[in-house]
Amino acid sequence: MGVIPRFAKEMIMSESLPKIRINQTGYHTSLNVRMAVLTDGPLTVTDESGNIVKTIEYEAPSFDEASGDNVRLLDLGILPAGKYFAKAGTESREFVVSESSPRDVADALVKGLYFQRCGMELEEKYAGIYKHPACHTAEAADWEDNSKKRLVTGGWHDAGDYGKYVGPGAVTAAHLIYSDILFPSCVSDNLNIPESGNGVPDILNEARYELDWMLKMQREDGAFHHKLTKARFAPFIMPEEDLLQEYLMPVSHTATGAACACLALSYRAYKKYDADFALRCLDSAVRAWKWLEENPDFEPYKNPEGVNTGGYGDRNLTDELFWAACELYAATGDEKYLKSAEELFSEDMLLAEFGWANVGGLGALCVMFELKETAGDLYLKVKNTFLRQSKKALEVTRLSGYGTAIPSEGYIWGSILTDMNNAMSMAVSFLLTGDTEMLDGAMLQWDYALGLNALDICFVTGFGERRVMNPHHRPSGSDDITDPVPGLISGGPNKGIPIPRQRKSLVRMSLPLSIFSMSFPPQIPMR
Ligand SMILES: [Zn+2]
Repeated sequence: MGVIPRFAKEMIMSESLPKIRINQTGYHTSLNVRMAVLTDGPLTVTDESGNIVKTIEYEAPSFDEASGDNVRLLDLGILPAGKYFAKAGTESREFVVSESSPRDVADALVKGLYFQRCGMELEEKYAGIYKHPACHTAEAADWEDNSKKRLVTGGWHDAGDYGKYVGPGAVTAAHLIYSDILFPSCVSDNLNIPESGNGVPDILNEARYELDWMLKMQREDGAFHHKLTKARFAPFIMPEEDLLQEYLMPVSHTATGAACACLALSYRAYKKYDADFALRCLDSAVRAWKWLEENPDFEPYKNPEGVNTGGYGDRNLTDELFWAACELYAATGDEKYLKSAEELFSEDMLLAEFGWANVGGLGALCVMFELKETAGDLYLKVKNTFLRQSKKALEVTRLSGYGTAIPSEGYIWGSILTDMNNAMSMAVSFLLTGDTEMLDGAMLQWDYALGLNALDICFVTGFGERRVMNPHHRPSGSDDITDPVPGLISGGPNKGIPIPRQRKSLVRMSLPLSIFSMSFPPQIPMR
């Protein structure tokens, strides 16, 4: 098992990496097997008995700008379940094709969020060796009036730190809910979490852990606090040892808009399982919308003086409002929300974006799948704009030697966001059009995240023969267990040096980015 070297530069310069790059977790029996080769051909594939099952001739590898590698991407087509060996020149690499391997990873990614739960004990029967006592159970103080205190426990720790942020949390919960809506069997319903077996799909059970907390983050007037954090990031200690005062930071328009949208969506998703909870979500969303209407002067969130935890500053509110208007119309049928969505929409709105800052894509999902019959002209406008914008994602993959949906200048901190975002965009495009080039483009990003990349690293913890070992993740860095908490996705390669005093590797956890896209592939061929 490989360990990530300390500096990304050393990895890129390494001559010792295998010259055949694969999805290290295995390929699905109904999807094409793709690999990248950094050596001349031909490539032969043999089965366990040594029989040649495929030979592929190919042109010499060519220069890939992002990595500096000479590389050729190969498509081996569909192979039956089994263990295989790919050989080119003196290089050989074993890979597997199976029914189960994509599902294993998708399940682990959702279970990864269970390990982020705050405010409850992670019991051994669910968490195994990663068990720990309940954390952050004390009352939070209002930053603007420290004398006001209340209990706001629960929710997921953000990525690598112990803060809890409404905007990214709303987007991550929405990713889980839309995974359930669009790909209803994309993950197992037995993830061994405390709610397993309660008659609600586990992916919705996990999302609800965040939603229950999010509801507590609403102020009486309908606005949402931007985040619940300390004044500063904790050191690398276990969460139950992080005992300094937590603060409800000031409210923000973007957090209120994202929470409003996510909670209106939650009404739709949960009403058949728990009508009371669904109505609480809808009531909260309606009150948030009212606050946004009554407070039209948008001010982007800025950390108050003395606070240096994550800012998640977002200078554009239109996409949050658009998403919220769409979801409220879907939830209530009230035409006033449709009118708002129509007024907020413009053809230059970013609709193929699903990350924490740009949420227009989530509004597009609502319009294209839920409001198809009822949104009139808006449906066609949104769909046409989305399809036009999603083509760009496919174009980016074609410029990369590895088929990666990140432009060569795009390897920033948390670059996996760009890649997974583009994967989602292509997957949704495939759902709408049946265009298999889009499916292939999306699946290449699944392979990228699991090892088919210039670093030969599987970016999901707990998987792959060369796996992420030192994510920027406080529990993994302080629990005295060699292997990091499983089911987390690394932020991926980064051309810059993000934190000069970084304690761990330069790989950062970017949890709230990509659950949706990492969950879809096993389901696509079955639709
Ligand atoms: Zn906690």
